[in-house]
Parts: sequence; structure tokens; C-alpha cells
Amino acid sequence: MKRLAALLGLLFPGCAPTPEPAPVPTPEPAWVFEADRDLIGPGGASKVDIEIDWFAPVPPDALALEALAEVARRECPGKEISIRRDTELPGERWKKCRGDRIEAALDECRGRTQAEPGVAYVHILYCPINPWGEEFGSNGLCRRLRKPFPHWQIFIFKGTLRNRAVLGLKPEVLDRSCLVHEFGHALGLVENPEHRFEDGGGHCTDTKCVMTKPKLAAVLDNAVEAMTTGLIPWDYCEKCRADLARSRKRPAR
Ligand SMILES: [Zn+2]
Ligand SMILES: [Zn+2]
Repeated sequence: MKRLAALLGLLFPGCAPTPEPAPVPTPEPAWVFEADRDLIGPGGASKVDIEIDWFAPVPPDALALEALAEVARRECPGKEISIRRDTELPGERWKKCRGDRIEAALDECRGRTQAEPGVAYVHILYCPINPWGEEFGSNGLCRRLRKPFPHWQIFIFKGTLRNRAVLGLKPEVLDRSCLVHEFGHALGLVENPEHRFEDGGGHCTDTKCVMTKPKLAAVLDNAVEAMTTGLIPWDYCEKCRADLARSRKRPAR
């Protein structure tokens, strides 16, 4: 039979079996490359050092730090994670921290002054409110700072969270969602246009996801659960987690 096939192949070259062409890989979309490799891997830094400082009246809640540890272990696989409660700034110090003067307070409490090879550094500061004014009415902020060395800097505005503790929600429950949300921005969420609000804010369209935008729809979607259980979403949805997993598998550029 083989001989016949070979003969047919000779007589009718067009009938000879031709190898399947190798599939051309579809290039990954640009957003896949935007997540910080030092945090989510693979490669990059081998250690993720998360330092938490706070003004005396607004310390971080244990519930928030436990959740941060859980998502960091899951989303920064293969990396050594350290989460350190570090400096308590006196409450009095806050009076001189309005506007850009907050940057001096950050310099004072930041435990690192220079980059250390192999270490990705995330500096978190708990403040009473947004130092640039309540009109920026946010619960928290995540920024990539270049000075004194490149690192992530997160604010949690704990006084604002306490004021927003409505629907029977405890401040620690809001603290947890806010901290995991801001850390999600550092990880690279949300860049995928398939479930991202088109306002450039990096928020998820799933109102059950902690990366959602705190819009009325999200509040209403979670209000019943909040009132009956005292809980609101505090983790990334399946789509957000899948985005991070896809970024982790991206080819090197
Ligand atoms: Zn956000
Ligand atoms: Zn999401």
C-alpha cells in the first residue's frame, strides 16, 4: 500500500501528502505587555517588598493586610513576598502634609532610599484623606514614582473610608477592598479592553470585581449583599485573573 502511495505520489505530484503549514501565532495585544514583570513574573525581581506606613490615627487593618498577602502570594508566584508594618507617623505631622507637601512625609517614612537589585518595592501610606483635597474624593491612589528610584506608591485614605462606612459595612471591610484594588493597579489591572471601562482609569466592568469603578451601578449591585452579610467584593474577578495569567505567559520582547 505504501509503495502504491509512493508511486501515485510520483505520478501525480499534486496528490502527494504535503506537510501542514505551521500555524502563524497571533501576536499578543499590546496590553498584555503592560503589567510589571517585576511583580507578576516570570523573571524580573525575585523579591516583592511591601512596606506599610501610616499616620497614627489611621492604621491599616489586619483584615486588609491578610487579603493583600493572599493576593500577592497568588499573583506574584515564585517570588519571595514580604509585607512589613513599618513607620507610624505622629498624627500632628499630618497638618503639614497637604498638597505636594505629602511628598516630604513619604521621603521621611520610606524605608528604602535606593533600588536594590532583584527587589520590587511597593510603598503604602495610610493617610486620613487625600492630601490634594477632598474634591479628588478617592478612597486610594496608586502611582508609579521615578524618584528617588522607580517603585510603586499606594495611598489609602482611611478617614474617607471611615466616612463611607455606610450600609452597615465595617471600615476594615472597606480597607480590605481598597487596598487590594490599589495593589491591582500596580499589578497591571485593568488594561484588557474586553472588560475595561473606556475612561482610561483601569477599572473592570464587572461590578462584582474589586477592580470595578465605584459607580452607582456597582454600589447598587452590591448593596443587598452588603446589608445582609456586611461584605463587599474584595478580590479580582475571573477575567482580571485571566488577564494577569496571560500577561505572565507573554513572550519576551
Ligand atoms: Zn482604581
Ligand atoms: Zn475584574
